[in-house]
Amino acid sequence: GQPLVFDMSYDSKMSKREIENTVSQLMEVEGWNRRATEPFHLHFCNLQEDGAYKKELLKRYGAETWDRLLITSTDRQHVDLFPSEQLVYLTADSRNVLRTFDHSKVYIIGAMVDRSIQTGTSLANAKRLKLATARLPLVEFLHWETGAKNLTLDQMIRIMLTIKETGNWKEALNFVPKRKHAGFYQVQIQKTIPKNRVTGLTN
Ligand code: SAM
Repeated sequence: GQPLVFDMSYDSKMSKREIENTVSQLMEVEGWNRRATEPFHLHFCNLQEDGAYKKELLKRYGAETWDRLLITSTDRQHVDLFPSEQLVYLTADSRNVLRTFDHSKVYIIGAMVDRSIQTGTSLANAKRLKLATARLPLVEFLHWETGAKNLTLDQMIRIMLTIKETGNWKEALNFVPKRKHAGFYQVQIQKTIPKNRVTGLTN
């Protein structure tokens, strides 16, 4: 399957609580991916052998289960495993919009939760490594409220699995929490037109 990278390099910057939350999300990621019709080949890169993420993953899964999971984990960097031209770092702070899902690219997701890690962390990381970046087309498809555009890792995997399988953003972006937006642009237009028509008929 197509590789999908989780960049595990952020654990030294996070609290114990944040590490635990991120690992819970990663366990959900593994579950959604395993049950998908066309799963990604998950790669956990920059996973340090004696680091906080590795310890928490082993504790939560147990060593046996961890070893049996269909996840390639390595302490090596994504840039050492894949050609740079193939990599695209996904970040809400990118100026580029992911319009079409490219089956030949290797997308990278930053393994972190949004508490003490500030906006722009994964963008800065991608820039330092001179990697292409892209953000999800959230404001292009959804009436966005004022909230942050950073999604959780379980939301990200469900969106990426769906866009990979269907190529349809309206389906994929169904996994954005409803509280964050006021619906899809086209859906809203469709809701308005029939109402007017009904009014026209009864008058
Ligand atoms: N402040 C963090 C940062 O520096 O990006 C936000 C982390 S977000 C909770 C976890 C990861 O999910 C990000 O590193 C990114 O890979 C991915 N992600 C979340 N929302 C995204 C969006 N709207 N577009 C693209 N990637 C997104």
